[in-house]
Amino acid sequence: MEISHIEHIGIAVENLQEAIAYYEEKLGLKCYSIEEVPDQKVRTAFFKVGQTKVELLESTDPEGPIGRFIAKKGPGLHHLAFAVDQVDAALQTVEERGVQLIDKTSRRGAENLRIGFLHPKSTFGTLTELCGKE
Ligand code: ZN
Repeated sequence: MEISHIEHIGIAVENLQEAIAYYEEKLGLKCYSIEEVPDQKVRTAFFKVGQTKVELLESTDPEGPIGRFIAKKGPGLHHLAFAVDQVDAALQTVEERGVQLIDKTSRRGAENLRIGFLHPKSTFGTLTELCGKE
């Protein structure tokens, strides 16, 4: 397994439109995609920052993962996503190394990428995603 770069940083927001306006008007970034991911009960907005993206996440269901996160911790940094070539193989590798997984196998995320999460209990508190085309 080789991590090539930080694919994106996921940020939980209460209101996607307001957050997009901040990133565009105050920081001068451009939102290039808004996508709903029903599986994760979120609407996402993406910004490119060099090779890395910022992914804003707005919950579409209070019982979904982002809805529960915001209820518990408030909006803000949610997860860190590393780019790997083959997500399922990478998940298996880190599990063999003793990391607790949230996803034993990858699932489909935004931008048609395969994604899988590592448990924050095993990652010193940072919800960590592995992300890639396969
Ligand atoms: Zn993500």
